[in-house]
Amino acid sequence: MSEFKFKCKKCKMVFNGDIGRIIFPADICMGQRPEFEKDVICEKCVVLTLDDVELTELGQTQLTEIHFKSF
Ligand SMILES: [Zn+2]
Repeated sequence: MSEFKFKCKKCKMVFNGDIGRIIFPADICMGQRPEFEKDVICEKCVVLTLDDVELTELGQTQLTEIHFKSF
């Protein structure tokens, strides 16, 4: 289980999202986004696409840590 701090772009709420396994693209530096096993779900807006959420700074740090551990 991996929980990250997300921010919903629709209602601006910050929440913990459990996104399961993360599949990192080969070219993460080229601006490709990682894929998540589960949908990101906001309590108010329900299922969000990756365009509707942004990772908070903390979330990005968490993601980077997992990325480095996956090598
Ligand atoms: Zn929302």
